[in-house]
Amino acid sequence: MKKDPTWFVVTNKYIVAANGPDSLYIESLRAMDVLELSKQLSKLGSHNVVVDSVNDYSKLPTKEEYYKESEKEWEKTEWLPFATKLDLMKRRSVEWPEFLVIHWTAGRQTQNGKAAIEYGASKGHTYCFLQADGKLFQGAPTNAGGYHLGDASISSYASLGIEVACAGKVEKIGEKFVPWFAKDSNGKIIDKDCIPEENIIYDGDEYKDDGSFKGYYQKFTKKQKNTLIKIALYSVQVLKIKVENIRGHDEVATPHGRKTDPGASIGEGGMVQFRKDIKLMLDSGVLWDAI
Ligand SMILES: [Zn+2]
Repeated sequence: MKKDPTWFVVTNKYIVAANGPDSLYIESLRAMDVLELSKQLSKLGSHNVVVDSVNDYSKLPTKEEYYKESEKEWEKTEWLPFATKLDLMKRRSVEWPEFLVIHWTAGRQTQNGKAAIEYGASKGHTYCFLQADGKLFQGAPTNAGGYHLGDASISSYASLGIEVACAGKVEKIGEKFVPWFAKDSNGKIIDKDCIPEENIIYDGDEYKDDGSFKGYYQKFTKKQKNTLIKIALYSVQVLKIKVENIRGHDEVATPHGRKTDPGASIGEGGMVQFRKDIKLMLDSGVLWDAI
């Protein structure tokens, strides 16, 4: 007959009933789930729940030590080494990103990183922000999970989001390229807010996995593009994100067509071509810190 275990040993990966051969393993739990489960087990009263990171059951930590350990788990954060840290945004979970997702803000290219992160934080969003001069601001740790996708085919929490300061898709009215903010309340075009033609890229193809939706886009600046390449290489080489998991919001938003960022703003061929470029660099041995 099985004896009720007295101790549960809680680790990041599994829970073990620590009274010998009847050990119970629950694998593949996230740190969050383990914390939740350990709380539930604590409520059962007779069971003591402890954390053991070394699997040495002869030295079971006390409950106090357990809580100290779980605090530490939350503090184990990582930041992109080339970003300015602005630890203002919400930490959803301790979760390493499996995806890198690129957006544009549909805003002015003069947007300031600090102000943008503060604004996003007030809305409960979590992402990095890329200024026109190529400077990157990070609103929460790389492994903090995030909210930047809305309805999507992938988890926002398991993805690192990059918002790029850019008007994105614009309307062509006569000879003018008009972002939404270049119209006053009567619909009259504000000339100074229109995008100069040399900063426009046109995608003439209907969207069929060719990288972007048909239309006119403001191009990312050269410096923004450069930083995006660095982020992409870092994501693959350090964060171990797969190249095919470097995605555009337009590729993962649901329903399909709900979002058009980054589209051709990232260059001709959109995200499809961007991934090809990154793959080529990886194959040629280009390292992220060489960018
Ligand atoms: Zn987006």
